[in-house]
Amino acid sequence: MNFSKTLKQEILSKRIKDNCCKKSFLAGLMRGTGQLFIEDDQLGLDFTVYDENLASLCAEYFRVLYDYEIREVSVGNDHLNNREIFEISIKGEKATEILTDLEVLVLDGEEVIVNTHLYGELTKKECCLKSFIKGLFVAVGSCTLPSNEDLASTGYHAQFTFSHEIPAEETERVLSKYDITSKTTKRKGQVLLYIKSAEQIKNLFAFLGASLAVLNITDLMISREMINNTNRRTNCDMGNVSRQIEATMKQIEAIKILQKKNVLSTLKQELQLTAKLRLEKQDMSVIELANLLGVSKSCLNHRLKKLIELSKQ
Ligand SMILES: [Zn+2]
Repeated sequence: MNFSKTLKQEILSKRIKDNCCKKSFLAGLMRGTGQLFIEDDQLGLDFTVYDENLASLCAEYFRVLYDYEIREVSVGNDHLNNREIFEISIKGEKATEILTDLEVLVLDGEEVIVNTHLYGELTKKECCLKSFIKGLFVAVGSCTLPSNEDLASTGYHAQFTFSHEIPAEETERVLSKYDITSKTTKRKGQVLLYIKSAEQIKNLFAFLGASLAVLNITDLMISREMINNTNRRTNCDMGNVSRQIEATMKQIEAIKILQKKNVLSTLKQELQLTAKLRLEKQDMSVIELANLLGVSKSCLNHRLKKLIELSKQ
């Protein structure tokens, strides 16, 4: 099962108790995928859910909150994502009243118009705001986490897909109040609100009340960091080794030049001895060589530097 589905199931597994939050959850769902239409001079709205249980949950909420029976749920297939679609219609005499109460529509004087803003009275209380964003995420959200095998991919990604800028920007602002930093971008006529940082995605899961998902991503972050640290250390060790080899090569090169120029035998005893041992023990580190000579590391370094200097004269 992909992670979006797991996450949405976790969000939906928690029953919403208060009516205020039921309303805002419905509103979030409807604002995500809703399409207004006019039938028999009445405004109506179709919205889509991808889960049969969710469709019946919506029906229950409309019954409880508005004494409204959903008469039409059309079932289709989303072949692209290989899932069933349940399209729910709110229409008829009561539709305008319900849609206004859910702030899909607003009163502008005498006239009822489409509300371009997502957040208003309905999302004033924090409990309701969270429910609203849960509904919104279930409707238009998705999330992928990286696999442990593919360390090269950063892979953390969560997004909400909107059809307009205003709801995307408003959601960005609302989330930022809860330490969730997101960005928006346009793609193929849609506006994406996305989060790439693992830490921020974790905050989003916590905000959505998805504690299993929080555990899941924390585990993943820790194990990926451990593997990355091991890789970094190995790379670092390799770097040290290659620097050591490079230094030794330079010293040997210098000593060979001094030999060629017949300078070596004219040098101080200690330098001669150092040169001789360096040539003989090419695989030894400076520390090992210093130990062998019974001198300090810095003393040996000083002698080796001297040999290199002399070779350049
Ligand atoms: Zn509430």
